[in-house]
Amino acid sequence: MVDSTALAGGRQGHERLAELVPVVLRGLAAGTAERAAPGPAGGPAAVAASVAALEPLVPERGVGAEKALSELATLLAAGSVDPADPWCAAHLHCPPLAVGVAADIAAGALNPSMDSWDQAPVASELERAFLTAIARLCYPAEPAPDAVVTTGGTESNLLGLLLAREKHQNVRPVCGRNAHHSVARAAWLLGLPAPVVVGCEGERMSAEALGEVLRTTGPAVVVATAGTTDTGDIDPLREIARVCREHGARLHVDASYGGLALCSTRLRPLLDGLAEADSVALDLHKFGWQPIASGLFAVRDAADLAALNVQAEYLNADDDTEAGLPDLLGRSIRTSRRPDAFRMAVTMRALGLHGMGELIERCCATAREVADAIRRHPGLELRGEPTLSTVLFRPVSGDVAEVRRALLESGTAIIGRATLPPGEVWLKLTLLHPHATAADYQGLLDTVAATARAGAAIAS
Ligand SMILES: *Cc1c(COP(=O)(O)O)cnc(C)c1O
Repeated sequence: MVDSTALAGGRQGHERLAELVPVVLRGLAAGTAERAAPGPAGGPAAVAASVAALEPLVPERGVGAEKALSELATLLAAGSVDPADPWCAAHLHCPPLAVGVAADIAAGALNPSMDSWDQAPVASELERAFLTAIARLCYPAEPAPDAVVTTGGTESNLLGLLLAREKHQNVRPVCGRNAHHSVARAAWLLGLPAPVVVGCEGERMSAEALGEVLRTTGPAVVVATAGTTDTGDIDPLREIARVCREHGARLHVDASYGGLALCSTRLRPLLDGLAEADSVALDLHKFGWQPIASGLFAVRDAADLAALNVQAEYLNADDDTEAGLPDLLGRSIRTSRRPDAFRMAVTMRALGLHGMGELIERCCATAREVADAIRRHPGLELRGEPTLSTVLFRPVSGDVAEVRRALLESGTAIIGRATLPPGEVWLKLTLLHPHATAADYQGLLDTVAATARAGAAIAS
């Protein structure tokens, strides 16, 4: 039996991990085998009962590392929705690559904390080198771009507005009707006025309408989206950048979903104009296939990040900084911080930009083929041609929201929903499975149509 108080690091830590990791893997295998579908059957009540069976979850006397790991890893796998199953396709919720998850073991065992050099000597240097590469990817022609690690698009959008507020007092956020909810929340958190909402043509922000808005607002920060959460559409970035320049407005692009398409020479033109932005949000826990949290925030001018500088005597005393110790505290709004860049760097080094771009191209190609299959399907209606890997559709009859819930409740399939003008509910497939082909989705399309027909028959 492994001592439950054994450490993961030190000279022997790897031996303890070598004993415990297989227990976790056996639990994953057992739980996955127990679950017949991409999700657990029975909905919230069945899942709650599986956890209640462990009461007391936190016992007076521990059960030991092996038993706790085995029980809970099995429980987790049995009761999870697995994004590595093609029929789990509701959200921008990716199946992580094994290489990234394996890298996380090293990061977890050594536990570098990214708030000071004396807690993360090489991890901080690796992070810096990785972020330099990401900043160059976003801003190939700029002399001094930079990037920082965030928990995801939500934090990156907050930083985008924060840097704008530090530059121009009384800055007014402006975003499209299609923008992510985190933009309005960031404005609220920062004490800024609620964003002015600009109309869309289709699901893309109208540059013309933006021009009208900027004519009457004072200093503004415009948030454009490259890959909307609902439809995967990309705002006309180059035109928006031109309008922003005309009016002296700052531009932040929320490319949480679409940003990594920069890795693909074929898809990169979709992001034309991105490099005109003052800042960009990118998520590697979407396209990028990293475990959460793997967000990045890039800026055109490294000097803008000075707004995040802060002094804490015990972490970045002036004399330490003058003596040559890198000051890391201003690289985040957090203090203790996981070395999330480590697994991202391992993955990007393993695949290269080319390998990453190819995975993204595959998802986008599969989305187009699935859209074709929907167009041909007599029981389904397609909303429009996908831009990235999001496909919106609905059954020709039946209650759309009911179909989604029925499939979720049985664990059969996890599909998303989007309410789009004029207030219609659509089903959404967000395809992030890099190895799935259109053939993997044909059965799902038939199941959706059949479930809708069965529902409609019961209702009538
Ligand atoms: C996912 C997403 C976000 C939120 O990002 P988190 O990583 O969940 O914080 C913001 N904007 C867009 C466009 C997204 O797709």
